[in-house]
Amino acid sequence: MREGIHPEYHQAKVVCNCGNEFVTGSTKPEIHVEICSKCHPFYTGTQKASAARGRIDKFNKKYGVESK
Ligand SMILES: [Zn+2]
Repeated sequence: MREGIHPEYHQAKVVCNCGNEFVTGSTKPEIHVEICSKCHPFYTGTQKASAARGRIDKFNKKYGVESK
């Protein structure tokens, strides 16, 4: 274990329930999600964007994803 303030940062493989896979920066090596940018209504534009955005924020917090 290295000492330091920064958590270990990986390129995390994200696997979605819809079968889509993509890579993101995360402190976790692998992430499984129920929804992703391919099947999320926020991106497909089929539902209210504001509600979707709140869910994305929760998603990001839950999985430790930080946007810089
Ligand atoms: Zn998906």
